[in-house]
Amino acid sequence: IVEEFFSFQAEGRNSGMAAYFIRLFGCNVECGFCDEKKTWKEKDKVKKEKVKDIIEKIKEVKAKNLVITGGEPTLYNLIPLTNELKKNNINSFLETSGVNTILGDFTFITLSPKKKLLPKEENIKKANELKVVIENEDDFLFAESFLDKINKDCFLYLQPEWNKREKTTQIVISYIKKHPCWRLSLQMNKYINEK
Ligand code: SF4
Repeated sequence: IVEEFFSFQAEGRNSGMAAYFIRLFGCNVECGFCDEKKTWKEKDKVKKEKVKDIIEKIKEVKAKNLVITGGEPTLYNLIPLTNELKKNNINSFLETSGVNTILGDFTFITLSPKKKLLPKEENIKKANELKVVIENEDDFLFAESFLDKINKDCFLYLQPEWNKREKTTQIVISYIKKHPCWRLSLQMNKYINEK
């Protein structure tokens, strides 16, 4: 674990829900626009933690949801963690680019595919939501390329890339007006200066 904290889910379908977060170390995608580079660059921040201690921390703050993010959390076998979460009635929300085999039984999977390394087909089908970061107009085509591969209940989100947000927010809004199957996902935490 590189970082853990209690906050709220700020993106996508579960936006606004209080949640405990763990950020796991490492990512085998390494995107240029990554806003959590520390999760794959700063190994000195890593600490090992037992599953039972994570559960205790979640219970201490009375959180009902755990967001498991990174980095790329599927670099790890998350079966022991998700099993314990289930036993304790805590929801597990996975955030992944889908490039590795997903090991764990999750309540909700957010698939955020990246052009640099495409997700495994089997993971596209497992996604409860597809969330595509939009940096430029070409990314809409990339987002659309998943529509015939997702499951029929999958929620569809487009998220403006934060560093170019003045431009990207506008192009995403215009696109959604013309293609209403998509919804806007904003990184709310950044607008209100929360973690
Ligand atoms: Fe960062 Fe996610 Fe890209 Fe990994 S896949 S480099 S965590 S944005």
